[in-house]
Formats: sequence, structure tokens, C-alpha cells
Amino acid sequence: MNFHRFSDAEFLAERGAAQSALHNEAAAVTREHFGRAVFVRGVVEVSNHCRENCHYCGMRRDNRSLDRYRATHDQLAELIIHHRPVSLTDVNIQTGEDPVAVREIVLPLIRTLRCETPLGVSVCLGTLNEALYDELLAAGASLYIIKFELADAARYAEFEAPGTLAERLRHIRLLAARGWRISSGFIAGLPGQSADDLVANLRLMGELPLDGCSVSPFIPGEATPLTRATTGDLDTTLNCMAALRLLRPELVIPAVSALNLTGADDGYRRGLQAGANLCTINLTPSEMRDNYLLYKRQRFIMNEERVLAAIAAEGLEVSRVGLTDHWRAAPALAEAMAG
Ligand code: SF4
Repeated sequence: MNFHRFSDAEFLAERGAAQSALHNEAAAVTREHFGRAVFVRGVVEVSNHCRENCHYCGMRRDNRSLDRYRATHDQLAELIIHHRPVSLTDVNIQTGEDPVAVREIVLPLIRTLRCETPLGVSVCLGTLNEALYDELLAAGASLYIIKFELADAARYAEFEAPGTLAERLRHIRLLAARGWRISSGFIAGLPGQSADDLVANLRLMGELPLDGCSVSPFIPGEATPLTRATTGDLDTTLNCMAALRLLRPELVIPAVSALNLTGADDGYRRGLQAGANLCTINLTPSEMRDNYLLYKRQRFIMNEERVLAAIAAEGLEVSRVGLTDHWRAAPALAEAMAG
């Protein structure tokens, strides 16, 4: 990875023609590696119980105003097996950090989906133990989504992000070594974050054995210590995404729904213009969705119609190949790094 071009933070401030050139270059590199195809994945948010206390998240354990829920296996299995959008090739099973839900709902659900559907399975379940990681992999999941959020260990601790930064990075590496594909990510625009901090995030990303990475704009969450903080800047976030694509052309980079929560209606589409190649359709039943409080109760829900419209509007197309099959053709990065 040639980091030199992005080692000073000037690219983050590009706007106007210079920014368009950066994004066009990132989009061209995306087309070179992936053609016009965009992966489309569904997400189900299984549980909003969380034992962690991240300052940037409304599901933190100190938020006593939240109604906590756990979905049932049968409810989600029925939904995904019989009522999923036809465009999906993959599904992401997501929870707060809730090992009870992992054991009682997520593991059986993965086994059911592997028997009943051809879907690739991703999970985003927080920091767990190695035995549970192995069980999830054996059950048939193949991608673990585990964000490092920010590269500064002291500030990571201040925000009460999960465990310590060193521990989080150790888990990313051990998951990769145990055979998982890994997607990580960081937040752009956290209070007090400098441009150099964002460059440090990109540098750390480059040192990790990743197959995917996201950049999420900071959205001040309801009922969090950061509720009065300023929303992350969309343009800076998009410039980070473009740099990510140019640094690591092979990564799967999601367009996150929070791009449309920064005050601009076209944030999501601009993500697709700046190097993103994965869209996520939210499948969580609506009666639970409002309590999956990553940011605010009024979430911007990417349903099937919105996702397909954004892909079509950018002249792109839905990938017929899922993430799992895409990666089956390429050696895992951890294997390649090992030699
Ligand atoms: S970001 Fe994840 S781990 Fe942190 S409080 Fe929210 S759900 Fe829990």
C-alpha cells in the first residue's frame, strides 16, 4: 500500500473540482476491480442489549431509557427464508454486544440459513471469546464485522469504546488468523478529532488484515454523552472513503446509511460515487427497528426500494455474485500475509 499520497491531511479538505477528481479516481478504481456490480446485503438487528458503553452509541448500557429487545429465531428465519428481497446475496446478523443472543438466537439462525438458503452470512456481534468465534465460523458464517472506530488508544478509552484499542486490534488479527474474512471501520468527525487523527485511522487500516472497511460519519446519538456534539462532515467522510479505495482497491467498502444523516439527502449516492461497492437493505421488523438506537429514533432506513434506486441512479447494477463467492476466488489476506 502506497500511503505517501495521503500521509498529509490536505486531501481531507478538498472540495469542488479537486474533490470531484479525487472521487472520480476512486470510482474508476472501483470499476476496474469490481466492474459496475454493487454487492447487496440484508441486515437483521437481532438484539439491542449491549454490555458496552460507547459514548457515540445510543445502545450503550447506561442508556436506561431504551426498551431492550431480542428477536426470536423463528421470526427472523421466516423473514429471511420466505420474505427477503430477491436482490440479496448475503445477510448480516447484527447485535449489541450480547453473548446471550449470540448463543440462543444467532448460532441457530446461522445454521438454519445455511441449510435453507444460498445466502452468505456476515456477523457483527462485538468482542467475544475465541470458542464462540470458532462456533460461529463452524455454523457457516464467514465475514466478521468488527470496527476499530478510532486509532488513538487514549481517546478510544475516553469514549469507552469496547475493551482497549490493543485488545480490539488483537481480536481483529486473531479472527483473521482463525479463517474469518474481516471488515473493520472507523468514525469520521468524532468530537475533538483532528485531520491528522483521520490520517492515523487510514494508516492503521492499512496495517490490518482486512477484506472490507467502512467510514461512518459521526452522528450525535440520542441519550448519549455526545448528544450535543456537532455532526461529522459529509465531505470529509467521503474524502476518507475515496482515499480508502485508492489505498486498498480490493476492499469491499459499504455505503453506510448514516451518510444520509449528515444533513444532505444525496450522501448515500455520493458514497457510491466515492468508491463504495456494498449496499445494505435493512430487514429488521419495524416494531424492533426503532429501538436499535445507533444514533436517533428517526433513522434513515435503507429499504429495498431506496437501495435499488440509488444503485440504478448511479448507473450501477446489483451483483449476482455474493461476498462469499467473490472472496472464495481470492486467497484470504491473512493467508497471503503469512506467505
Ligand atoms: S457501538 Fe456496539 S458495542 Fe458500543 S454501545 Fe453500541 S452496540 Fe454496544
